[in-house]
Amino acid sequence: MDERTTKREITYLRVSVTDHCNYRCAYCMPGGAPENLPRSEILSYEEIIAVVRAGAEFGITKVRVTGGEPLVRKDVVELVRRIREVDGLGEVCMTTNGSLLARHARPLREAGLDRLNVSMDSLMPDRFRRITGGGELSHVLAGLNAAENAGFGNTKVNVVLMRGVNCDELPQFVHFAAARGLEVRFIEKMPLNQSVEDSAPLFVGLDEIRRRLHNLHALERLEVEPCAPAQLRYRLIGTRGVVGVIAPISKPFCSECNRLRLSADGKLRACLMEDGHVDVKSVIRTSGIEAELLEAFKQAAALKPPCHNGHSSTLMSRIGG
Ligand code: SAM
Ligand code: SF4
Repeated sequence: MDERTTKREITYLRVSVTDHCNYRCAYCMPGGAPENLPRSEILSYEEIIAVVRAGAEFGITKVRVTGGEPLVRKDVVELVRRIREVDGLGEVCMTTNGSLLARHARPLREAGLDRLNVSMDSLMPDRFRRITGGGELSHVLAGLNAAENAGFGNTKVNVVLMRGVNCDELPQFVHFAAARGLEVRFIEKMPLNQSVEDSAPLFVGLDEIRRRLHNLHALERLEVEPCAPAQLRYRLIGTRGVVGVIAPISKPFCSECNRLRLSADGKLRACLMEDGHVDVKSVIRTSGIEAELLEAFKQAAALKPPCHNGHSSTLMSRIGG
């Protein structure tokens, strides 16, 4: 059997609902904001639900709504409600930049969203504005507060650490995790749509992050599921805070990866870092037969590589992070 078709359980689907974003993070959109896809290319909510249903039939139990920025798509709360109604799903989560979360947190919770990951790469307003191309840190902090007030627990904050950009803020983020009693995850920057050489100067790796964490705080190592993206997680002793490291470059977890990704334009991708995919949009728009969608999941799962090749030519805002 080809290694690519080695059987593994695929239970997690990340659904990018839009390629639009109100931020312009350079690591996500190197070369500036891309041209948005034509509206006709983007899956409708009906179409997304059809794919999620087929996914649940295939064995998907967890769905993450992402983007682009999911909260910029009109009526995304309604989409969450409809995903939540699909039989067989255990958990429905969202990854957001948090900019519009203050007003959406409660409706999202009421629609049945289970958990949130919020990206926030700086705790300094000016720097935050520079990194995101104009974002307001106060809006994201208000979003985190609103999420807590709406009853979301276990919210995680994602920080892409970059040398010379924000990596001096690691202690501030550790303090933030401890003070707020939440989990901050430091992410290695991936060279998306960029050569490894161009990406290297900004790269901050797992070993360095781990060393600095140990120097900053007493840590208790936590157990992790083999398929969890943060293969390293520590409780900050004496607090409710947790810190984690997601190291797709230093420590790829490909052999344990249990996820598929649905892009906003209907490509079911096997891997973030490799471009192999099945075009489910054409399946829906030509036949729409559920058995064929189920077959598309099997084909996409068979495309999963034993280990990624270290870069992708597709933008993160399109794939859905
Ligand atoms: N807009 C939402 C957000 O920012 O959370 C959801 C989509 S974003 C593409 C999902 C995640 O991908 C974010 O946590 C972001 O920091 C991360 N990301 C984007 N580009 C990345 C890169 N080159 N390397 C590592 N993480 C990246
Ligand atoms: Fe937008 Fe998220 Fe990409 Fe930043 S990381 S540009 S917020 S999609």
